[in-house]
Amino acid sequence: MSFPSKTRSIGLVVGYLLVLGVSAGHDHTTPAKTACHTLSTLLGTDKVQSAGGAQYEASATGAWDLYNQFDKPTCIIFPRNSSDVVSAMRTIFHSDAHYAVRGGGHSAMPGWNTISNGVLIDFSQMKAFSYDPVRDSIFIEPGVLNGEVYDGLQSQGVAPVGGRVEAVGFSGLALGGGLSFLSPSQGWACDRFRSLDVVLTNGRLVTATRTNEYSDLFTALKGGGSRFGIVTRYEVDAIHVGTAADKTYWGGSINYVGPTSAAAVVKAIDALVYSNKDPNTVILTTVAYLNVSGTFTTAAAATLFYNGTEAQFKQVFADFLAIPAVATNLGPLSYNEVTKVLTPSQSPGIGPRATNVNVVCQTYFSLGFASTGTRSYNISNNPYKYGGSTLYPGQGLFEKSYNNWLNFSINFKDEVFGTFWVITPVFQSQIDVSRAHGGTSFTPPNGAFGYLEVGEVLSFGATKISKSLRAGLDLLYRQIPRSPGLPLYLNESEDVQNAVTTYSGYEKLKEIYRKYDPTRFNVRRMVGPNGL
Ligand SMILES: Cc1cc2nc3c(=O)[nH]c(=O)nc-3n(C[C@H](O)[C@H](O)[C@H](O)COP(=O)(O)OP(=O)(O)OC[C@H]3O[C@@H](n4cnc5c(N)ncnc54)[C@H](O)[C@@H]3O)c2cc1C
Repeated sequence: MSFPSKTRSIGLVVGYLLVLGVSAGHDHTTPAKTACHTLSTLLGTDKVQSAGGAQYEASATGAWDLYNQFDKPTCIIFPRNSSDVVSAMRTIFHSDAHYAVRGGGHSAMPGWNTISNGVLIDFSQMKAFSYDPVRDSIFIEPGVLNGEVYDGLQSQGVAPVGGRVEAVGFSGLALGGGLSFLSPSQGWACDRFRSLDVVLTNGRLVTATRTNEYSDLFTALKGGGSRFGIVTRYEVDAIHVGTAADKTYWGGSINYVGPTSAAAVVKAIDALVYSNKDPNTVILTTVAYLNVSGTFTTAAAATLFYNGTEAQFKQVFADFLAIPAVATNLGPLSYNEVTKVLTPSQSPGIGPRATNVNVVCQTYFSLGFASTGTRSYNISNNPYKYGGSTLYPGQGLFEKSYNNWLNFSINFKDEVFGTFWVITPVFQSQIDVSRAHGGTSFTPPNGAFGYLEVGEVLSFGATKISKSLRAGLDLLYRQIPRSPGLPLYLNESEDVQNAVTTYSGYEKLKEIYRKYDPTRFNVRRMVGPNGL
């Protein structure tokens, strides 16, 4: 990994350390050059591009997080189909080259979707998806973004269990688990996998299903992220969510400002996770500590829906409706409209990189706080970092984590643009659906819980984390330990938290990894989830 100008040398040191972590003493450049040369002969210079190629620069700088926008891959492969990926992986394996794989490019983990002195496989040209009414399933290629498949299949009234933000890739989201607005009733995104076409590290293409000879691989890919092979096609259950005309949901967003309202939101979400038994209840809550014109302010947002009537909505979310709010945007919605509530276009100045902080930021815009200009809100120039925890409700843990996060936020306010405390509930209904579909590699014990994401948007243009901020984050993670037995969420925890080691299926996962990648090529040559 490399960084621009003044932070370049620090970036290089970090890059070398990362590399040393996976292969002490290995020379990357020559194997990568060999692989790129072979591949451009095999696949052609349209699919294999080096610096100067038509799509090279846009891809090299195209990852979502600023941390991942400075690497210069030796070449970038733009596969069009599985057999291109087979050729790529065989060549990478035999050349012993370092590599990275990118689906939608939204990982905030440095080096997970880009690489210097290595080969990047970028799926931006594999964007096909289709609904098969006979199988009642959806086929999705790995470059597809959530919003693309939602919009494309809306007229047929179906959707996959996919992410809550349109610009995020379906691929990386689902391989890490996948939290959706459909999750309370339909499980994690990966619960709905039917079959997966997978290119193993040695370049062999297999199709894994729940019941065939690759059923162990199938389970590992439900939460194991990028370690078990490259998925070139997903077949997933079609969920019948209705068309644009079917306004089956009621809800939207509620925005709050000030510490009193924020604390009330924390209490309300704790109580809801503890008591809710209804799979039609859908909510994401965010509290933010944000720099508004030089002054830090606490704000909160609830993004909440009920798959049912307004009256049911009002009953389920009564606690949230009772908290004094500065803006509410509620009404009847189709499922497609639900998936657009966190869409970037609704947040002027947020740029193309939507986050669940959008709704919070909208609060400021609606209050006229944007007078400092939109630039400081254009977080495409601010790296985002996050870590996670997993907490049982009703034990004071939500409040405790909130207080620790707030102390952290106040202590480090000079180094960040804003910090976020975000809870996604996992109700028992979601766990039941998951178990009924064969479980995952992280299957949690019975009992509702909340995934906590603590995020920081660093100051404008920052490309590194200071030693003190690093120490502050490590302290915060120690202060908010996961409840015993609960897994961290791979896609919302920091790489140093080693999420896969917290999985109930961790021992089995290691065994499966040994079986499918006996030379440990993936772990040695790719930056990704730790612990295997
Ligand atoms: C703005 C924002 C909103 C988010 N909202 C949600 C949400 O609602 N629900 C949720 O669960 N998560 C959410 N996330 C987290 C998200 O799930 C992860 O960032 C996820 O990694 C994104 O997938 P991607 O394909 O876009 O990312 P990428 O960075 O392309 O990929 C992420 C990881 O998956 C690997 N990978 C990708 N495709 C493949 C493949 N085909 N085969 C093998 N490995 C592959 C990559 O190598 C990388 O390690 C959000 C993240 C952001 C930034």
